[in-house]
Amino acid sequence: MEVLPPSACYQQTFYILYGGQRYFVPHNTGIVHKRKSCHIDINQLAYAYSLLQYYGHREKLKLVNRLTDLENMNRDALRIARKCADETGTLMAGDICNTNVYDPKLPKNREMVKQIFKEQVEWAVDEGADYIVAETFGMVEEALVALEAIQEFGRGVPAVVTLAAHYNHKDGKDYTVDDVEITEAMKRLESAGSDVVGLNCSRGPETIIPLMKTIMKSGVKVPLAALPVTYRTHEREPTFMTLSDPKTGKRVFPTNLDCFLCTRDDIYDFGRQCDELGIQYIGLCCGNSPHYTRALCESIGRCPPASQFSPNMDLHCIFGEDDKVNDYLRKDAHKSFIVG
Ligand SMILES: [Zn+2]
Repeated sequence: MEVLPPSACYQQTFYILYGGQRYFVPHNTGIVHKRKSCHIDINQLAYAYSLLQYYGHREKLKLVNRLTDLENMNRDALRIARKCADETGTLMAGDICNTNVYDPKLPKNREMVKQIFKEQVEWAVDEGADYIVAETFGMVEEALVALEAIQEFGRGVPAVVTLAAHYNHKDGKDYTVDDVEITEAMKRLESAGSDVVGLNCSRGPETIIPLMKTIMKSGVKVPLAALPVTYRTHEREPTFMTLSDPKTGKRVFPTNLDCFLCTRDDIYDFGRQCDELGIQYIGLCCGNSPHYTRALCESIGRCPPASQFSPNMDLHCIFGEDDKVNDYLRKDAHKSFIVG
């Protein structure tokens, strides 16, 4: 496997679709915003590093004939993550995720899936993970198996469990792939002992927020997590797999999603909404890239190192207000660059 250079971890954003343009690695990451106390002690930080284990599990690597690299790949990723977390005084999360082989109709399958989680959880805690994220589960039953594995093999580290809310909408309600109403699914995860519950992937900011509001109203008491994809999903096409290109009508997932990319303002607004709603654990899933992470951090009043590179429009040759900017373009020829 090509191992990401350590500096890549600092970008905090190497999600699959973004990384897919540059590397062939399983990876994943999230950021944490903490306001009130829960079992995860993250009061001082804005980021949690790692998660490079996403899709680095037995089933996925078997598909790409890399099973012999399984343990090394996981441990290498975890060590890079631990180093990043240590250097920046932040937390490191291990990661387990949808196996894509869970089948509720096959009881034996449950134990097989649990073993997949077990080895990844054990490697994560061996390498010093502060907590484990279990994510992107379409089926709540698989998420519950993941939580069980964290509780049995995670040596007491906290669990953040998030579901991907796909397009299973009936009678005005949203359901998991295994047909459990989403708020009920959250309650089952909470009752089973997850420290944080919520949603990641599948939905963009515009369609994840209404669902988060529904979850909040349902009375779930543990801190909530929201990590949308960075695409402009909307009411008619609420998930990134349902989006179709307005020009061609073709499904855009996964390689032509670019025409639905969020703007930085979309991401900033998402962060503000989460903050106002009191959603304590926020981040971005598929499609994320460094400038989005920076916008999200800034939306909740953080100033990550990357903020020093945020655009300073005062110095722009046409729109800048700074006296150092030459007058001809910004004043005399201004109309040549704008409409109206
Ligand atoms: Zn995703």
